[in-house]
Amino acid sequence: MPSIPNFYFTFPNDNSLGFAELPDVIEKPLETEEERLSYRLALVDSFPLLLKYHDEARKNPELYYIPVETTLFSCAYFTNTKLYFGELLTLWQDEPWHTTCPECNTQSLFIFGAGGSPLSGSGSGWGVCSHCRKDIFGIQPFSHFFGSYLTKDPGPKQLKESSLKIEQILAGIKQ
Ligand SMILES: [Zn+2]
Repeated sequence: MPSIPNFYFTFPNDNSLGFAELPDVIEKPLETEEERLSYRLALVDSFPLLLKYHDEARKNPELYYIPVETTLFSCAYFTNTKLYFGELLTLWQDEPWHTTCPECNTQSLFIFGAGGSPLSGSGSGWGVCSHCRKDIFGIQPFSHFFGSYLTKDPGPKQLKESSLKIEQILAGIKQ
């Protein structure tokens, strides 16, 4: 797996990926809208670099199921869940989760959440534009988010939330 940077592998002969060398981060709740926006922008700005984890995340629940704060996929009668790092790595590679921003008309809008009903078709998605540097709401139609969420590559089987943090991954790629 040559695309995985060195810091990520400390036990190459072991089945574990050895996240021991990832930097510790101080766990601090995102309290203000400003902090939440900064978190989202840090993530989308790093997306091209984070893509190197995609293949590994599809196999490794510890990487795939890192919770991404401020995300939500809410669908009446179906699910109400946050989104995970591995899911976003998959979804952000295509429409409608990575799409044209209605304000600046560039392909810079990354969707962080969507909510609605598959029956009525009502609902929308929202996300952050890496070009405008702000949150954008009201992206429609919801059915496109629902369809692509359902049909995406399912990732590793067991749903076990990882104890790793996105901040550790972001700090790791900057080393
Ligand atoms: Zn924009």
